[in-house]
Amino acid sequence: MQREPETIPVPQPPKAKPRCRSCHQEIADAAKVCHLCGRPQNPVLNFFRYSDLISIGILIISIWQLTQALQQRVDASEAYAKAESALVKAVAAESRILEARRDVLEISAAVIDIADMIPNVTGFGAGTGDEDRAKLKKISESLKLRIRELKK
Ligand SMILES: [Zn+2]
Repeated sequence: MQREPETIPVPQPPKAKPRCRSCHQEIADAAKVCHLCGRPQNPVLNFFRYSDLISIGILIISIWQLTQALQQRVDASEAYAKAESALVKAVAAESRILEARRDVLEISAAVIDIADMIPNVTGFGAGTGDEDRAKLKKISESLKLRIRELKK
């Protein structure tokens, strides 16, 4: 029976102590946090440095603010469109008012002419008494006054 060659234990160099993932200084074997720089030794936590987390936070806030700004721009342009349409309606309404005013002026002028003519019309005018003439004159005067007001 052949004897197996005795294995001679090779002297192992003393196992190196782990080093901090951040500052690369030697730290205790099971250290979760570096006692020198305070950085976590968990790979995930160490990957996201605090400054990175702050940057990501600022980035998220910036994106949110940009979204808000874009939304406000949309709101502003909607408000602008509404204001524009209101202005168009107001201009249209004003032109209708001016038209109505012109109509009133024309009708008033026609009524004044009639009121002034009636007493002079032969036959019909002959029948108008002083009271009627006075009434017609009053109508004519008040319409002329109204026209002056409208023309202001
Ligand atoms: Zn460290």
